[in-house]
Amino acid sequence: HPDEATGRQYESSGAGLRTHEAHSARMYDYLLGGKDNYPADEKAAEAAVAAFPTLRTAARENRAFLGRAVRYVVEETGIRQFLDIGSGLPTADNVHQVAQRHAPDARVVYVDNDPIVLAHGHALLSADARTTVIPADIRDPDAILAHHETQELIDFAEPAAVLAVAILHFVSDEEDPGAIVGRLREALAPGSVIVLSHATAEISPETALGVQAAYRAQNVPLTLRDRADLAELFAGFEIVEPGIQVVSDWRSTVPESERPSHAEVSWYGGIGRLP
Ligand code: SAH
Repeated sequence: HPDEATGRQYESSGAGLRTHEAHSARMYDYLLGGKDNYPADEKAAEAAVAAFPTLRTAARENRAFLGRAVRYVVEETGIRQFLDIGSGLPTADNVHQVAQRHAPDARVVYVDNDPIVLAHGHALLSADARTTVIPADIRDPDAILAHHETQELIDFAEPAAVLAVAILHFVSDEEDPGAIVGRLREALAPGSVIVLSHATAEISPETALGVQAAYRAQNVPLTLRDRADLAELFAGFEIVEPGIQVVSDWRSTVPESERPSHAEVSWYGGIGRLP
């Protein structure tokens, strides 16, 4: 078994990676043009692309939203501590890099349940004393909050930012994403924020549901949700301007005529602030 505290055993043994099965972290890495993926991930991602040809664009737009959201949090709220749940494999512009570019003292706890994220993440994501990576599951928010590394880096008496970007669509209705977000909210001080993004079938049902089917066929449970469902996940938070938007539109600096269409992205995002 991995060392629950550090996950470091994975680096030497490679145990638990299950590389013959597709995994959401590595499929996303493949879609972003990364190299930390395996043939099973490529095959599954290509099946999803066959159903939804602009899935790579959508993944890139989500990643760009994440960057703008982190920058907004640092610059507009003054928050300096981040809990990034479902951090994904290290790629360009990881959360601590964006945050520390604008606020060198920013602290980040990365959380992911894919052991490969821990294995690769330790090199880059825990590059200094202000960042760390812990193995944990968003479906057990208490374990994330109580983890000693979370407790060391994040002062819950002060405003903090929780990121659940492109992860809650891997949590089924039965697993109750609303209760998960609610538990995280209870741990946060007033002035804290939550950043959410979520794939949707609301804009282009046929193609988006094709992606859901492709993921599910590879045993990666994907649940697409509507804007109203995402609004419910923000319960207890005040949604900051410009509200829940297709990720490519949210505080975009790209002229509207140069952005992909809403159907091509099919992914909502927004930020909620705790009054
Ligand atoms: N947040 C990043 C990466 C999204 S990819 C971004 O938006 O760019 C989704 C990530 O969530 C993957 O790394 C996957 O391993 C992780 N993930 C999926 N289900 C999870 C769960 N139940 N608990 C923790 N992490 C999970």
